[in-house]
Amino acid sequence: MGDELLVARDVPLGGTRAIMVRRALPHRRIRTIGAWCFADHYGPVSGTPMFVAPHPHMGLQTVTWLLAGEVEHKDSVGSKVTVKPGDLSLMTSGRGISHSEYSLDAATPMLTGIQFWVALPDSARQMEPTFEFIEGDPSDDPIKVFIGELAGRTSRATVYTPMVGAQITLAAVVAQRLELNPEFEHGVVAASGDIRVDGSLVRHGQMMYLEPGRKQVAIVASEPATAVLIGGEPFDETLVMWWNFVGRSHEDIVTAREEWESGTRFGTVVGDDNPRIPAPPMPNLRLKPRRNLS
Ligand code: MN
Repeated sequence: MGDELLVARDVPLGGTRAIMVRRALPHRRIRTIGAWCFADHYGPVSGTPMFVAPHPHMGLQTVTWLLAGEVEHKDSVGSKVTVKPGDLSLMTSGRGISHSEYSLDAATPMLTGIQFWVALPDSARQMEPTFEFIEGDPSDDPIKVFIGELAGRTSRATVYTPMVGAQITLAAVVAQRLELNPEFEHGVVAASGDIRVDGSLVRHGQMMYLEPGRKQVAIVASEPATAVLIGGEPFDETLVMWWNFVGRSHEDIVTAREEWESGTRFGTVVGDDNPRIPAPPMPNLRLKPRRNLS
């Protein structure tokens, strides 16, 4: 397959007051990187641009990683947190959860961040929903690992397949050379500013895919910039993804949609009176299971 630049698509997120995001995953050919199955990059944007009212998830974990600004997360298991740069907000939907996300008025004027989804393996996708919050490490360590292990740092976040996620802060012109797990495939996101990944330019908001077998990578930028590295063992289960749901079959998705619309499965976001986001109509075709194309 080789390395490949994953050019992100611009997508409006969150209904009537949508924020524009750059979606690098799923990509037409590369659906997953390890169990990472979704990547939305946003910002810098000013004001209070994020207004994502209550909506459901199934079969996945959401990972919110901010570079600037603040987002308030609330969910149906009763969590209420303010996520700041460097904090890990990790919501495990299991069979079903609902949540909302709003950027805060009082926060710094610019919002920049990434929301990832991680597909739960079959063994974990029916579990009860949980939420985990890990406050940011205030040190100036240029490598902050939020999932798994990299460069001698380890995150205590709970994940269900072998994977990694880390922020790499780049000073101008100084390359960061990282040892990689050769069992993993990886993606490197230019999270803030343009970067070069082994010499190839990756513009702000885009992602470079690195195929399994690679033992190291060099990341550099001509101005101060921030990269986010994700990776994992190639995910060998075939997924059906539609709207906010990750399932294994068309029927999984139809059932989840009906149970969001009827209010019977995904709970209620505690302390949130905003109207929930209705599910879009199902398309007029059977949803197809998809995996990476080689
Ligand atoms: Mn969500």
